[in-house]
Amino acid sequence: MDNGRSTDPQGDRDFDPDDDTLHEECGVFGIHGHPEAATITALGLHALQHRGQEATGIVSFDGTRFHSERQLGLVGDTFSDHDVIRQLAGDSAIGHVRYATTGETMLRNVQPLFAELAGGGFAVAHNGNLTNGLTLRSRLVREGAICQSTSDTEVILHLVARSRHNRFVDRFIDALTQLEGAYSLVGLTNKKLVGARDPLGIRPLVLGRLDGHYILASETCALDIIGAQFIRDVENGEVVVIDEDGIESIKPFAPQPMRPCIFEYIYFARPDSIVHGRSVYDVRKKMGAQLALEAPATADVVVPVPDSGVPAAIGYARACDIPYELGIIRNHYVGRTFIQPTQSVRELGVRMKHSANRGAVAGKRIVLVDDSIVRGTTSMKIVQMMREAGAREVHFRIASPPITHPDYYGIDTPERDKLLAATHSVEEMRRMIGADSLAFLSVDGIYRACGYQGRDSLRPQFADHCFTGDYPTPLTDIAGEAPRHAALLAEAG
Ligand code: SF4
Repeated sequence: MDNGRSTDPQGDRDFDPDDDTLHEECGVFGIHGHPEAATITALGLHALQHRGQEATGIVSFDGTRFHSERQLGLVGDTFSDHDVIRQLAGDSAIGHVRYATTGETMLRNVQPLFAELAGGGFAVAHNGNLTNGLTLRSRLVREGAICQSTSDTEVILHLVARSRHNRFVDRFIDALTQLEGAYSLVGLTNKKLVGARDPLGIRPLVLGRLDGHYILASETCALDIIGAQFIRDVENGEVVVIDEDGIESIKPFAPQPMRPCIFEYIYFARPDSIVHGRSVYDVRKKMGAQLALEAPATADVVVPVPDSGVPAAIGYARACDIPYELGIIRNHYVGRTFIQPTQSVRELGVRMKHSANRGAVAGKRIVLVDDSIVRGTTSMKIVQMMREAGAREVHFRIASPPITHPDYYGIDTPERDKLLAATHSVEEMRRMIGADSLAFLSVDGIYRACGYQGRDSLRPQFADHCFTGDYPTPLTDIAGEAPRHAALLAEAG
């Protein structure tokens, strides 16, 4: 993606001064029955940091009380402190990293959210976005619910609290059946760790085990960091309930074919993660190879836009038998300290992130490979940078189809009119970006890279609506124009 964020093994994606990116919403983690639950959760969240950098939190349970620490900022900023971890006592914990799409970034929106219900405490952490969250919230508020946050996740707490069922698990399922949209959830009660994935499985969730203790996490990289064993993906529409008796799997929904988000393979997931049995790194290389097949270029070198374009560029270079060169060097240490509002400093930002490796590109015809284009602002600057470094021709290749539609499932896409491909033809984009040629991977090509013949238009194998506009669930809030709840309370600091 033309955003300059790192997908390196530490997942230290950093600030994008152009806001030229899709942001993941969140990552979740949970563990049951382990004496060092909070430490392990902090490590798991550290591995999931690429899924959200705005805020983080952990809630633990010590057999009597719940303990909570939630802060704005990175995992390492909060959970490197031994005293903080010591206060998160207990052998069960859940945690969250957040990039806000629904609800502003403020402390009271930071997850896990916690509520004291009739049967005891309940903490929940959510990856995804409810497409009927505002509609449900309006109804709950009309009925007298007092909302503490502006996050759609709080709706889940209210629905569990108001359920007329007795057993917690039945109340939880009762709440889930009222939700639309995308959710991968982890929840913690005084006895149980629960996990749930929406009926289409749009956002990921995996099950693992460490020393006999079950773990739930957004990605397998969060299991690898602690040496945990991967057991399986939580299935679409599955609820898992983990307690001292073991694990129970419940399927409360009518069975549907899974439609996970295709963008996990393109950009969101860490390249070392395994998503639904496929190595993300391998799929990205195959996307590059498929792109070479569909849109070859006569060139001297293939250059990745670091870091997210690297695997696709490797695949492209191998398939075309053109040398692969690091023609752009990325500075990994550009951070939020460089946030500056003025246009002139924003211009500076890209040069601080990326530098041309003149020796690798001067006098050459280059194929520049990136994973996607959102607004296109960074692409323009990178093409210009390559030309200034002496590139003779710049052929831009994108290892995913044009993004033409916004997401409503937990990814922060700009409004449709800000998506370059929604308002411009490929030729218009080429001219704006200033490349000699521009080509995108086809929709079928992306499915081929994932091992299919192509997209099954009757039963698409993935959620792919940013490319196709084929939204897989009702968009109730948008159709009904449910009011967005602006925060009425400003938090200091
Ligand atoms: S629009 Fe659909 S395919 Fe695109 S990122 Fe969102 S969930 Fe994934």
